Amino acid sequence: MKNLSSVLNVTINCSECGNRFKRKYSLATHMSTHTGEKPFHCSKCDYKCAAKSNLAKHMLTHTGENLSSVPYVTINVL
Ligand SMILES: [Zn+2]
Ligand SMILES: [Zn+2]
Repeated sequence: MKNLSSVLNVTINCSECGNRFKRKYSLATHMSTHTGEKPFHCSKCDYKCAAKSNLAKHMLTHTGENLSSVPYVTINVL
């Protein structure tokens, strides 16, 4: 009998924290949390992200804007 479940449940372990991922690119994205490649920091809390667009979305949680009604956001960092 072949054990199919052992084939279907292949996971990749993060070498840093042991989290398991089913896809290589999921692990690659996760690894950025360890490498610290998150140059965009929220000025109002300790949120950090790797993409400026993500920070723009996050800032809406502070400004109280309705995300669905805003097609795009321009943030002027002073
Ligand atoms: Zn990890
Ligand atoms: Zn924030």
